[in-house]
Amino acid sequence: MLRGANFLAESFMSSPAHSHPGKDLGYDVYGVPPDGSLWKALRILVIFLPPLGVLVAMVALWGGWFRPVDFALFAVIYLATGFGITVGFHRLFTHRSFKTSPAVVWTLGILGSMAIEGPLGWWVATHRRHHRHSDEADDPHSPHAGRLPGWSGKLKALLHAHVGWSFRGDCTDTDLRRYAPDILADERLMKINRLFPVWVIAGLVLPAFVGWLVEPTWRGALLGLLWGGLVRVFMVHHVTWSVNSICHMWGSRDHDTDDESRNNFWVGVLALGEGWHNNHHAFPTSARHGLHWWQLDTSWLLIRLLAVSGLARDVKTAKPHGTPLPRHDSGA
Ligand SMILES: [Zn+2]
Ligand SMILES: [Zn+2]
Repeated sequence: MLRGANFLAESFMSSPAHSHPGKDLGYDVYGVPPDGSLWKALRILVIFLPPLGVLVAMVALWGGWFRPVDFALFAVIYLATGFGITVGFHRLFTHRSFKTSPAVVWTLGILGSMAIEGPLGWWVATHRRHHRHSDEADDPHSPHAGRLPGWSGKLKALLHAHVGWSFRGDCTDTDLRRYAPDILADERLMKINRLFPVWVIAGLVLPAFVGWLVEPTWRGALLGLLWGGLVRVFMVHHVTWSVNSICHMWGSRDHDTDDESRNNFWVGVLALGEGWHNNHHAFPTSARHGLHWWQLDTSWLLIRLLAVSGLARDVKTAKPHGTPLPRHDSGA
């Protein structure tokens, strides 16, 4: 499977761009046909297994099956994989808002992959496509483009922006050669990308193992898997997806961007600073999204910590009252 992936990645880099967006890219990196039943089954599993895990965890909790270590596993891995997405996949790999060492690239790449939001290259390409076409027809997850009138139209559009788009080929078939040629050309990032299944499994086995170490029974392992694995993935998924749905619907617009992006305090807190989404659409390459002291942006605090420790350099930041950048200038 991995040999096939190598071959595909190399052939993509040398072949001329062709008109069909991503039909033979992205997913094939794992040897899975883009419209194959295995891929569809995996996608359904990734989206529906975590809520099932939440349900089982709640029933277990009701029956008294819960230990402090389960909450610690949930919180620590939520923050670690959340920062993997916000600081790693988003601000570093997609928007190139700072530079860092190979060790930090590996760490953030692996942690972001453990969030199970898709492989690195596909995530970057999809998000850059969102910036390039935000709230236009080619935006993969806009709650506005093509919206039908009335409340039912609004609800359907919100569901589409939140999770529905994941089931539509025209929204998920994003061409990496068009949107992420730099990722395809980066051997280290492609290695992290190809090993995606390994990181996914590690992110589930690790909390199960810690749960078992604390209590060496199948119950110990199961509780670790539930809280550090499935409940955590559920939270990271829905908080990230809320940036796509809620932050293009509700909140304030500090900057006059040519899309519907909003600043939303609550998503800002939960999504580790990513809820200052209008600021982000105005200044996509800024490592800092919360531009005022009261706009809590924990991902920015982490980048500052990396910079102070000498692990981040060339950090780009925006001014709170600057002129918004044009939509094509998103660091791609
Ligand atoms: Zn957006
Ligand atoms: Zn972005």
